[in-house]
Amino acid sequence: MILSKRVLNSSFSATVGIADKAQFIREQGKAVYDFSAGRAFEPTPSYIAQATMDAITAGDTHQTMAKGKTFYRNAIADKLIRDNGIEANPETEIVATMGCKQGLTIGLIASINPGDEVIVEDPCFVSYKQTIQYVGGKVVEVPLRAENNFRWTKKDLSKAITAKTKAIIMCSPHNPTGVVHTRDDLQIVADIAIKNNLIVLTDEVYERVVWKGHHHTNLASLPGMKERTITLMSFTKSFSMGGWRIGFIYACETIAKELEKLQQHLITSVNSFVQIGAAIACGEPQKEVLDYWLEWEKKVNYCTEYLNDIPGLSCHTPEGGFYAWTNISELQIDSLSFTEQLLDQESVAIVHGSSFGKYGENYVRFTCVKSWEELEEGLNRIKKFINNLS
Ligand code: GLU
Repeated sequence: MILSKRVLNSSFSATVGIADKAQFIREQGKAVYDFSAGRAFEPTPSYIAQATMDAITAGDTHQTMAKGKTFYRNAIADKLIRDNGIEANPETEIVATMGCKQGLTIGLIASINPGDEVIVEDPCFVSYKQTIQYVGGKVVEVPLRAENNFRWTKKDLSKAITAKTKAIIMCSPHNPTGVVHTRDDLQIVADIAIKNNLIVLTDEVYERVVWKGHHHTNLASLPGMKERTITLMSFTKSFSMGGWRIGFIYACETIAKELEKLQQHLITSVNSFVQIGAAIACGEPQKEVLDYWLEWEKKVNYCTEYLNDIPGLSCHTPEGGFYAWTNISELQIDSLSFTEQLLDQESVAIVHGSSFGKYGENYVRFTCVKSWEELEEGLNRIKKFINNLS
């Protein structure tokens, strides 16, 4: 075969793949209820869209600095102080990215030599393992056990460290389990990273969608972690800006300089006018988006309660994020067959837990931030599907 093993040995993305399939079915004129990828139903708030349209009209359509426009980086620095208590130098510690996934890619290229081991959570977001593989790293999975409330223990994490361990990837609020890692959870990671001289890439894409009683903490803000943390953030989830492909990395100067080099070669710059919209999103959140967050929390609660009431299913109320991480083990069916049959029989698309890792096998993931009509119909169809199973 003339293609590379790295690509040939990787698989398609379950989240994007299922969402694309649902879209294809819809384009054939057939009904489909799509709860697969974590894409909110609402459009980007109008104040963000308007600022971006004004930027295009004003001719802001040329490449920008590879690390991002000064205007954008300054807005990010303000946001980091206001929301995260982090004082970042916008000149040297912030790099614009095309969303968290592109940030993860350059973060891994900058950190990993071929054969280096990278620790991931199991279950974890479907693209981490493939991206590690693309850069020549070796994936090491450490379980997030249900009995530990989907949190790493010091024992499990320490056991995974070898002389080849180079980096850890973690996600908080966590996709798919909905856990928001506490300072104590993060301290376990920090202690091990410092002791073993590791880099940690933290995916914080869901940082603003944290539900009542929970609080997002940045790993980089823990003592000794700034120098070794690559913080990945984006506007995709919190601001319903998935199609904009925009985010940023916060890292210390030594790391950020290398990431800037990568952006120069790989993408030149992030889209110019999109950076204006994202800069506006960095400002104090306006009513439109605050209303989205209130609505999303209601939907997350509604969906998890509904699913919990279906005999054979159980799920915790998420602490943050968009997903009902639903245990199906009582139904005696594997997660892939469950999702395939649900799509075939009821035209409902969700994601099988096994795509997130071995420890996801007894689960399916349902995205809760869709329209009320879609949620009603989709949940009814899931109930009907399960009734027919038994
Ligand atoms: N991150 C989202 C998810 O887990 C969007 C899909 C993707 O980018 O893979 O569904």
